[in-house]
Amino acid sequence: MFEQCPKRLWLSVHRRELAEHDDGAEARFATGHEVGAIACTLLPNGVMVEAEPDLAAALVTTRALLDNGLAQPIFEATLQHDGVLVRIDVLEPDGAGGWHMAEVKSSTKAKDYHVGDLATQLWVARNAGVPISSAAIRHVDSSFVLERDGDYDGLFADTDLMAQAEPIVAGRGDAVAAARATLAGAEPDTAPGAHCDAPFPCEFAGYCHAALPAGPEWPVSVLPHGGGKRWIEQGIVDLLAVDPAALSNAVHARVHRATVSGEVYHDVEGARAAMAGWAFPRTWLDFETIGFAVPRRIGTRPYQQVPFQFSAHVETADGGIMHREFLSLDGSDPRRACAEALVEMVPPTGAVIGYNASFEKGRILELAAAFPDLADALTAMAARVVDLLPVTRANWYHRDQRGSWSIKAVLPTIAAEMDYASLEVKDGGSAQEAYAEAIVAGCTPERRLALDTALRAYCGRDTEAMIVLARRLQLHDDVCGGEI
Ligand code: SF4
Repeated sequence: MFEQCPKRLWLSVHRRELAEHDDGAEARFATGHEVGAIACTLLPNGVMVEAEPDLAAALVTTRALLDNGLAQPIFEATLQHDGVLVRIDVLEPDGAGGWHMAEVKSSTKAKDYHVGDLATQLWVARNAGVPISSAAIRHVDSSFVLERDGDYDGLFADTDLMAQAEPIVAGRGDAVAAARATLAGAEPDTAPGAHCDAPFPCEFAGYCHAALPAGPEWPVSVLPHGGGKRWIEQGIVDLLAVDPAALSNAVHARVHRATVSGEVYHDVEGARAAMAGWAFPRTWLDFETIGFAVPRRIGTRPYQQVPFQFSAHVETADGGIMHREFLSLDGSDPRRACAEALVEMVPPTGAVIGYNASFEKGRILELAAAFPDLADALTAMAARVVDLLPVTRANWYHRDQRGSWSIKAVLPTIAAEMDYASLEVKDGGSAQEAYAEAIVAGCTPERRLALDTALRAYCGRDTEAMIVLARRLQLHDDVCGGEI
């Protein structure tokens, strides 16, 4: 934390109450806990150092294990040096009198910021007299496939970062002294900048940014795909100050023009032409999925997106609409039932339309690969998938989208009544949380029913919104309509 920002460290110790609530913290903690527990089960002869009754006891226990010449893995080995206490996820005997150190992470690869964490542990361990011969990040191996229930042998891979950590270890003493001096002093006067988001979004951003003068209403950062970077480098932060003649990218020019003029860019003929070939019956399709770091379903990989819900609005050429849906909240593997429901509910002909549809197509093809008896129907369905997102991007822009064509950014500008504010489940993240809550054994039938209702309302809104969006894209602005 000190290395990301001295002020963040200071605030986290002296002004903790200024931190913003982190919605995802609980889920991340639960994932980390699950991953850590699995890593321990893979070393069945390991010894856990409990933090009970307190960390002082953990220090004593660790020291006793090391001094007694233990030749087994140690979990949460607790060591201290110069007032810095660390708990090392895994220490494994290296067979030559030393120890291999591993920090367990739920990510699928080692990241740059892991090196600093590892260096601190290395510095403490060495100064506490523990000979460390290698140090690694033990991360989830994304190529792992669960083949038997509960068999996670192979779930992790070690990336050795000893060589990268070594140069940092030498300076750790100075860094600790600097951190201590920071904590003993007044609140640091650190200006917000790029470091506020990397490697982690800072929980004090609201506090720090409130002290800054207000920025322009339309910053250059609304130019999509990092288009604002070159202007910021030239000291231009206001999009209204950008010379339009210097915008060679057509999308940037369009965003600039719509922002400066306040006029919507809308190419009705372009939208009509793009959708003219989408055969009826049209199926407007949206999946909700969940990906667990520790795969739970046979045949799945870590973080593989498993569909547990879909909504399909089927539209006929005469404008008729029929809604169909699937949702599995009983905690079983939802894939077979989902695949069967798709084959049953999605017509065998006509376009299948998604928004950012490569996601829908990918899920359908994964189901086809998992269930050979349904593969022909599902593969044919995937071949009929078309995408409303590029059509929208090419033919509509309202400056309130602020450079985004996500459906949540577009809808308020073209179909404001399709808002999500009144829904209990409002986005993909909260849909995953609802699903995770509903499938645990302790969820009451009443709560599960409430979650079921909320999930159906959300996913159904997504596909309904796509139809309204598509219809409005094809109507001139002075024509009312597009309702379904
Ligand atoms: S918001 Fe930025 S400047 Fe403020 S404490 Fe966090 S990282 Fe430091």
